[in-house]
Amino acid sequence: WTEPPGDPLNLIAVGCVGPHRSRAPGRPDDGYAHDGQITKQPIRAVTVSALAPSRRQLLWDIGSGSGSVVIEWLRAEPTGRAVSFEIDPDRRDRLHDNAVRHGVHERLTTLGAAPDDCAMAPEPDAVFIGGGLDDALLTAVWDLIPAGGRLVANAVTLENQTLLTEWYAQHGGSLRRHMVETAAPLGSMTTWRPALPIVQWVVER
Ligand code: SAH
Repeated sequence: WTEPPGDPLNLIAVGCVGPHRSRAPGRPDDGYAHDGQITKQPIRAVTVSALAPSRRQLLWDIGSGSGSVVIEWLRAEPTGRAVSFEIDPDRRDRLHDNAVRHGVHERLTTLGAAPDDCAMAPEPDAVFIGGGLDDALLTAVWDLIPAGGRLVANAVTLENQTLLTEWYAQHGGSLRRHMVETAAPLGSMTTWRPALPIVQWVVER
């Protein structure tokens, strides 16, 4: 199997063609229209895996951006449902288009800013916070997660990493720092380009 040279409809990335179809998380970034605000492929894979998509469960994806995380949650489990929260109207439109292209839009509801809009959504089984993280958001969302519900929060700034460290000290779970380097050209040679380290807190309520 070799990929055909042109794929203008992006059918390979969205899994509509041949042996590239996969429901596993961590699809290539270029399968999603985005403006740079996207959880990159390797981090998305561990994030969706930690969210543990399961039968008929509902995800809240807070700070959806391109929608890549919520789309991979929905692709991984065909009976899954999700609500995405995205404060930026352009990104809301883009994430809806991405959901349509991936064939998951009928199981996705898109709302605006969290935590204000959380009251409009049904109780979640799992929550991902990938944007808008601060103590007020975490406190509000934590109170809305039912017993046994899962929370995964990613932080890229020292301030938010400190916040997650404090919550981890108080509530347990797993705190991890993911550091990914990707081989890339350096002149005529090749070197490792590091991505910003991501601190990820995974906890069951
Ligand atoms: N996980 C996303 C990337 C998230 S970037 C992806 O894979 O594409 C963070 C996003 O959070 C941005 O789009 C930003 O507009 C959004 N955001 C920030 N604060 C928010 C809030 N309080 N409620 C909802 N979205 C928010």
